[in-house]
Amino acid sequence: MNKDRADERAMMVQSQIQSRGVKDLRVLRALEIVPRHLFVPEEFTRDAYCDHPIPIGHDQTISQPYIVAIMTELLVPQEGDNILEIGTGSGYQAAILATICGRVVSIERIPALADAARVSLQRAGVKNVSVFVADGTLGWPEMAPYDGIIITAATPSIPSPLIEQLAPGGRLVAPVGTTQIQELVRLTKNPEGILKERFDGVRFVPLIGKYGWRM
Ligand code: SAH
Repeated sequence: MNKDRADERAMMVQSQIQSRGVKDLRVLRALEIVPRHLFVPEEFTRDAYCDHPIPIGHDQTISQPYIVAIMTELLVPQEGDNILEIGTGSGYQAAILATICGRVVSIERIPALADAARVSLQRAGVKNVSVFVADGTLGWPEMAPYDGIIITAATPSIPSPLIEQLAPGGRLVAPVGTTQIQELVRLTKNPEGILKERFDGVRFVPLIGKYGWRM
């Protein structure tokens, strides 16, 4: 087996991502480059390129590759963009964004997951992600405004601090709905106001915090 597993990634991109309509070449390239197997727990490394989410401990999961791809595409990531992610989890989504954009600030509420994600990001050679432990529903005002904000946990509505921290022209992508089922929503901050678009149905673990669900 190829140690870097590049062949498996090429296959994953072709059969799971391109085949379902993801077209953005920077997104496809990032999924081909980032070693996803470094972001899953030891006992699941064999499954790293399979078409499903994987448990990462603490009742949390790393999303299915296709969901990572479609959310990244919806964010319309540009070279040089300043990105905020809420829900670091494994760090994989942050690594994908960091491969395309200038800088990623990623917020995680569970300290042990943040620690593990920092280790994975380092092993993968990703240098432009900063992981902080906090309630991400408050955003991270220190490094605002953001060209893109991605929430990778299910939220009942978009936390208002995140909308405030979005740059003019910025995009925000999030799964919005109940704890059981959500739809992907994209907000774009235009001069005329906020444009809201709705996409696929998804299922994420809950966003827990002041502007998410209360524990
Ligand atoms: N993006 C991740 C998957 C996220 S799973 C990846 O690529 O692997 C959702 C994550 O959101 C979990 O790790 C959970 O602990 C975290 N989370 C939930 N509520 C949060 C909050 N208010 N602030 C920050 N992180 C939160």
